[in-house]
Amino acid sequence: MKAMVLEQIQPVENKPLKLKNLPVPQPGNKQIRIKVTACGICHTELDEIEGRLRPKFPIILGHQIVGKVELPGPNASRFKPGDRVGIAWINSACGKCDLCRQGYENLCAEFLGTGCDANGGYAEYAVVAEDFAYPIPDRFSDSAAAPLLCAGAIGYRAMRLTGLRDGRSLGLFGFGASAHIVIQIVKRKYPHSKVFVFIRPGQKKHQDLAIRLGADWVGATGETPPAKIHCAIDFTPAWKPVVDALKVLENGGRIVINAIRKEDKDKESLLELDYSTHLWLEKEIKSVANITRRDAEEFLPLAAEIPIIPEVQEFELEEANEALILLKQGKIHGAGVLKISD
Ligand SMILES: [Zn+2]
Ligand SMILES: [Zn+2]
Repeated sequence: MKAMVLEQIQPVENKPLKLKNLPVPQPGNKQIRIKVTACGICHTELDEIEGRLRPKFPIILGHQIVGKVELPGPNASRFKPGDRVGIAWINSACGKCDLCRQGYENLCAEFLGTGCDANGGYAEYAVVAEDFAYPIPDRFSDSAAAPLLCAGAIGYRAMRLTGLRDGRSLGLFGFGASAHIVIQIVKRKYPHSKVFVFIRPGQKKHQDLAIRLGADWVGATGETPPAKIHCAIDFTPAWKPVVDALKVLENGGRIVINAIRKEDKDKESLLELDYSTHLWLEKEIKSVANITRRDAEEFLPLAAEIPIIPEVQEFELEEANEALILLKQGKIHGAGVLKISD
């Protein structure tokens, strides 16, 4: 099969993914082989290529995979050949530890990430445990479904972790791919909840999109919203929005940080933390890591129902390097997707 393979850390501008001809992978016990039709490209891949996140080398990247089941392995019975499925960031977990048994397989010590610890979807075929493949609702084309498997599923998990209930208000700090999906879920699931969106000043396009998607108020980070917020999700790489959010958070409220890493450059913002203003009265800060099966399984049908149809820009498998360079430069319109077969 054709695959774009990463062998070592390099700047993405060096076009580090090499087109290789590899043997088609064989599905093991309770695994399925998928003929990949589309695979989304993600900022996490830039982190893997440039060494901010450590994949296992050599690796086939890609964790937003859509394809058709081609060959179920021994004892795999959940899907039949021809079924359309998706694979997300969670590739597998042990299934036996205390965390796995409680549904926190995203936190399992043996968690494997697709396209990081296990080969991903920048290839003609991929193999995954059948338990970690999800039916794709008919409403989506292969390319439109792919981006939902990352930004959508993690946004959904972040929203779940805030503990939001209908009628309570939610603050969104930053308004990128994940946030613009979250606002649509919230407006659907919690119609009486107000959503306050905080973005960097001057981001007119994001501001307009937030209003169009139903934001009840849009302001700059640091501004005071019309009322205190019951919970919040921070999508930014910085610390200042977290401190600002704590200041306008209702007593007992929670902020969920949806970021793999925080930048060090504005770390001194944390020195502004004042216990009585920002944390007293049971205010909480929590991070969100990876996703669970449940997140993907619940989110995909919900996205079809709303519907959330991402705008995509398609590339060939062989153009993966160029697509990632464009992603780094912020020049992709909507979400970038590798269209691998029909
Ligand atoms: Zn991703
Ligand atoms: Zn486990």
